[in-house]
Parts: sequence; C-alpha cells; structure tokens
Amino acid sequence: MEIGIIGAGASTVGLLDALARFAREPGALTILEPSPYLWRGRAFAPDLESVLVNTPPMIMSASHGDPGHYGRWLADQGGSYLDRRLGQPIVPRGVYGSYLEQTAESALAGLRRLGWRTDVVRERVAGVLPADRPTLVTHTGRRHLVDVAVLAVGCGVPQDHYGLGGSPGFVRDPYPLATTLADVAPERDVAVVGSGLTAVDIVASLAARGHTGRISLLSRAGVLPAVWQRPARVTMAHLTTDRLAALAREHGALTLDHLWSLLDVELGPDLAELAEEVRATNSEDPIGRLRRHLSLIDSPGMGRRLLQQAVHVVGPHAWRLLRQSDRDVLRGRYFRAIASLSSPMVPGNAATMLELLETGQLAVIPGLRKIEPGDGGFRVFTDGSVRSADVVINAVNPPPHSIPDGAQAVIASMLTAGTAELHPDGGLNIEPTTGRLMVSGHVDPRWYAVGDLAGGGSFITTSIPGLAARAEATAQAIVSPLMRPA
Ligand SMILES: Cc1cc2nc3c(=O)[nH]c(=O)nc-3n(C[C@H](O)[C@H](O)[C@H](O)COP(=O)(O)OP(=O)(O)OC[C@H]3O[C@@H](n4cnc5c(N)ncnc54)[C@H](O)[C@@H]3O)c2cc1C
Repeated sequence: MEIGIIGAGASTVGLLDALARFAREPGALTILEPSPYLWRGRAFAPDLESVLVNTPPMIMSASHGDPGHYGRWLADQGGSYLDRRLGQPIVPRGVYGSYLEQTAESALAGLRRLGWRTDVVRERVAGVLPADRPTLVTHTGRRHLVDVAVLAVGCGVPQDHYGLGGSPGFVRDPYPLATTLADVAPERDVAVVGSGLTAVDIVASLAARGHTGRISLLSRAGVLPAVWQRPARVTMAHLTTDRLAALAREHGALTLDHLWSLLDVELGPDLAELAEEVRATNSEDPIGRLRRHLSLIDSPGMGRRLLQQAVHVVGPHAWRLLRQSDRDVLRGRYFRAIASLSSPMVPGNAATMLELLETGQLAVIPGLRKIEPGDGGFRVFTDGSVRSADVVINAVNPPPHSIPDGAQAVIASMLTAGTAELHPDGGLNIEPTTGRLMVSGHVDPRWYAVGDLAGGGSFITTSIPGLAARAEATAQAIVSPLMRPA
C-alpha cells in the first residue's frame, strides 16, 4: 500500500509513530511538506528561548498510549527547564520540536526496517486529480499517485480583523518571534491584538528582550488565560465517553444539564468553586484574577483540573453528541471561560505578566472596536478611549477548523472534484472514529484528515494528546486489512 501524507507537523508525527507500531507488512510512504522545518509545524519551529510550550510533559507525548514517551526523551536531554512554581519542566517550543523530529525519524527508521519505502518531498500540494487512486499534484506540477492520502495541514494563521495588512509596523503572524520582534526597538509602544496564549508568548518574549516601552493587550473582553495548577491525579469515573454515549442514546441527544450533573457527581463540593470561577471569568479584574490564580497553583481544589482534562479528553466526544442549542450556548456564553480555563498559561509566564501589569508597563484593555493606521503608527479605538501605538502585533487565533492559506488550493481542488465536503462549523466532514472523509454521507476509504482540519470537533484547539489519539485511530484504520481500500 502506498500512503501519501500532506503536511509534516505534530499530527503527522503521531501518525508515523502509530503506523510504525501497527504496520505488519511492507508498504510505501510519501510525505509532502514545503516548510524548512520538518515535523515541527507552525508551533514548534526554532524560536526564542522565551517561547515556551504551554503544557507539562505528561500531556505532551506524541505516542498515543505511552504518556511517558516525551518525559523520558526530555530526561535524556539533560538541561534544566524547571518551572519551579509548577514543579515541572517547561521547555522552549523549539526544544519540543526536536522531540517531534526524533520521534518522526525513529518511526520512519522502524518502517524502513520492515521494508517500507519512505520519501519526503519538500513541496506544497496544490491540487488533486479526479482519478480512482488519489493523485496529489504539487506546486511544481509533480504528480504522486497513492492508495490512501491523509490531509495533515494544520490550522490557519491569525486573521487580520482590522484590515491592517501591509501597514508598516503591523505584524500579521507573530511566529517566529525571533524574526518578528527583531525590528521592534525596546522603547516602542506595542499593542497586541488578543489576550490569549499567543499574546502571553509575545509579552514574555518582549520582557526577555528587555522591552521598556508600553505593551497593551487589546481584546473585546480582556480575559487572560488562567494559570496552570500543579498537576494532580484526575480520575473521571462518571464523565466518561461510554456514559455520554449512553445518555445521548437514552435522551436523543446530550444536554448541558447532563454534563453539569456528571461534573457534580465527579466533583462534589468542588463544583461550587468551579461554578464561581466560570461566572467570574468575564467580570473579574484581570490583574486580580491573575494574582488569585498564581496563589492557587498548589490549591487542592480539583474543579479547574477536572474541567481542563474533561474539555481535552471527553470534550470532543461530548461536542458531537451535544444538542445544537446547547452547543450554541457553550460557543456563545461560555466560550471565553472554557477557553481560558482549559488552556492555561504556565506559571513562569504568569509571574512575568503579573510583574509587568503591576509596574504599569503592561495593560489589559477590553472593549476593542477598531484599529486604524495613521501618523506613522496606529490609532486604537476602544469603548472608552482612543490611544496610539507604534507597533501592532496580531495574536488573534484563527477560528477552529479553519483552512490554512497553504492548503486553500488543494482543498478547493478537492471540493471541485467532489472528494471532500465542508463541515458547516469549519473544516471537512469526516467520520469521527477514523478521520475518513465523508461526502453526502458516504465514507471514502482513500482519504483521511487528521488535526484541526477534521471538522465537527469543539471550538477548543486540539492539543498534543488529542492530535496523537486521532492520529492513532487513523493509522489503525489505514493499516487494518479489513478496512484497506479494495
Ligand atoms: C503557537 C502554538 C503553540 C502551541 N503550543 C502547544 C503546546 O504547548 N502544547 C500543546 O499540547 N499544543 C499546543 N498547540 C496546539 C497543537 O498541539 C499544535 O497546533 C500542533 O502542532 C498542530 O499540529 P498539526 O500537525 O495538526 O498542524 P501543524 O503543526 O500546523 O502542521 C501542518 C503542516 O502542514 C503543512 N502544510 C500546510 N499546507 C500544506 C500543503 N498544501 N502541502 C503540504 N504541506 C502543507 C504546513 O507547512 C505544516 O508544516 C499550539 C499551537 C500553536 C499554534
């Protein structure tokens, strides 16, 4: 069997690792990726030392089913990256990229030992040809005929909400910060659009470079990510995928009330604290909230820890079973609370943020309306004021399941050929258990999608364990003899 994989980021690393574990017979593999950094994708390319991973080692294994895989690799590297408040190593993202590289190389070596031919083609896939076998056409016109093709193209880059593209001093995509911050003089007045984890990366990196000018985080609500608590063992005896599926079967769909009752059984008295945390997300002063979260790193309360795990582990299953009206409520009323609590910042970065907020160098400004270029800089309009900035750095995340610029052409060509179909909430329609593409309700065993292009998932960006789990399910479907294409 000949497999073609489009894109070589973390999802593909998870896929290769699983293929190497499952494959029993020789085959052939072609991976197509135009970027200079194989296996790292957008998130884990070399960058400043201040650009850190957002999660502790036990949930960064690219090898599904082996949660200690990354921790063991890290222990072998030496070097101390301890976040002492968290009690866990938090490495620069470029270091994690080296782990992905080595995981991919070792999986490829394993496949070759089994007799596989493996090729990496440094080209972008720009289209497909209508044919019985998937035919991938690269931007130089080369054709690759395969039996099975996997789309692993990742998510998009930040959107330019205020139409500032081309304005001097505007940075549309902040990564790599080593390049984009290189021209920002220390005394410049920097406005960052967004207040999530990307904004935190930017602030931490400006601070590490000795920035002295004002830094403003501009957003509509001014909500910062919560702060990681020390990891503690979270067991979910009731909030399980089986229980969710049973409830959905029994009642025709899952509801928020079902989820709340299951959280109640799991958490007992800690539920009230979690409810208060969710309620306060939009109203609490950001400095007060950050200070409070820093003081709660060692708190024994399980509410936030359980919610975080639930969102990433059972969240994708729950989302698919949830009644449409309840999905709308989550996406609308609770989006900021869930995003902030389920994707927290690491304590080291939180401490840097608090220090800068307390000295007044950093401000979190809600009520952003628009930004206009003007007077050699920018004018920023918020609900209550107009302010200026020399530099505007975009840190607005692309909507979940958006199609990255580099994959627009290939997806357009697949839509035209009838090989793929858009999901109404973004991404492509897939069969959730295997990642196979679905068109008009029919599953196509020749085409797969992994990572955030796979539509129908929740509004939270998938993290490494979620990507690795999906990649493993796809690898299993590809190599399973019963499921192979005829
Ligand atoms: C800045 C950032 C930081 C993150 N940090 C963490 C973290 O600390 N912990 C965590 O768990 N998760 C983190 N995530 C979330 C998630 O784990 C990553 O987004 C993950 O790397 C996604 O992997 P991927 O392979 O699906 O996509 P990507 O890593 O984006 O890889 C997709 C690849 O496809 C290639 N490609 C695109 N189009 C084509 C084409 N037409 N032809 C060929 N190749 C193509 C791209 O060049 C790219 O290399 C982070 C995400 C971001 C954006």
